[in-house]
Amino acid sequence: MKYTRRKFLYTVGAGSALLTMPSLASFAQTVSPNKKLGIALVGLGNYASILGRALQETTTCYLAGIVTGTPEKAVRWKTQYNIPDANIYNYETFDRVADNPAIDVIYVVLPNSMHHEFTIRAAKAGKHVFCEKPMAISVLECEEMIGACKQANVRLFIGYRLHSEPYNQAAMKFRTTGVGKLQTVESGFGFPIGDPTQWRLKKALSGGGSLVDVGIYAIQAARYSAGVEPISASAHEEKSDPVKFKEVDDTMRWQLEFPDGVIATSESSYSLRFNRLKITAEKGWFELDPAFGYGGIHGQTDKGPLTFPNINQQAAQMDNFTRCILSSSSSDADGEEGKKDLKVIEAIYRSVKEGKKVMI
Ligand code: NDP
Repeated sequence: MKYTRRKFLYTVGAGSALLTMPSLASFAQTVSPNKKLGIALVGLGNYASILGRALQETTTCYLAGIVTGTPEKAVRWKTQYNIPDANIYNYETFDRVADNPAIDVIYVVLPNSMHHEFTIRAAKAGKHVFCEKPMAISVLECEEMIGACKQANVRLFIGYRLHSEPYNQAAMKFRTTGVGKLQTVESGFGFPIGDPTQWRLKKALSGGGSLVDVGIYAIQAARYSAGVEPISASAHEEKSDPVKFKEVDDTMRWQLEFPDGVIATSESSYSLRFNRLKITAEKGWFELDPAFGYGGIHGQTDKGPLTFPNINQQAAQMDNFTRCILSSSSSDADGEEGKKDLKVIEAIYRSVKEGKKVMI
């Protein structure tokens, strides 16, 4: 799908971007349009804490419930956010959420390899799903998740917060602003990872290293800057510490080739720090640095600095997804979008393994 076909209506007042697309009549309207949707967060780690705070600022949804394997966290969250006991689950009791009308959406914020299971269980419970990135650890898992949500007639969204973020929305539109033919995209996201025992370094839980964790932002940026899907990938990996990165990739460098000749050169790392996007075209350029975090994004073009507001990305994202549910409209951050990134990720890993360019 070409991003040019999408029409972004950014409303600064609402702090969010709404996408206008044909109505999805096939999705059941399960809630009254005036009701705030109740969200249950699954897996109360670092990012869930940020989402919990963001849910105090959302206007169309609120924190209704939690699912956790840690009883002390259940007590802490219940007190902090006034969550009723009836809306608190653990991973064993989770499926009982099917009988709880206060919870409309399950937001899966677990380690990557658990996204598949919990998305499918949420769909079977009849709940809409927000699932964190990466959507899953294989294309096959993505397909099963999309299938389960379709079968249950519930919506599936992936936590691509940058689709609701003004600087990255401008990157998506750059090629349509009279700058001539797009030439190159450079993107990269990396940071030195700490604790060597964390799940991100265990393949069974993470599905991969820096590529699936932060490289996915560089892939997203290349895809939404180009507005078309890449046709080939060439990649290689460098390990700064073979013991720490025994199971997963450390620094990945790759090139994606797009059908109109645009080349995207990207990198991700668990040992080097960078966070940037640069797009060049015949008659202009566009740059974000930092590009992908939520602690403030900065940008400029050949015409001068960009001065968009730095918004609460998580609140904007959840409000956008909720509006899509309430208005039965489609989103550019759905399961199909998540699957496209996994397709590229699989091609990049295949290229590293085979030591040659692979077609996507
Ligand atoms: P954390 O390790 O901080 O939290 C994960 C939570 O999952 C744990 O606290 C735990 O919660 C639960 N859990 C259940 N089983 C396990 C297990 N076997 N090992 C570890 N944790 C387990 O991770 P993050 O919050 O940083 O990441 C979670 C997801 O969110 C990932 O998919 C990540 O990619 C994504 N993410 C997205 C970001 C974004 O900007 N969109 C930013 C950061 C992360 P409990 O104790 O409640 O059971």
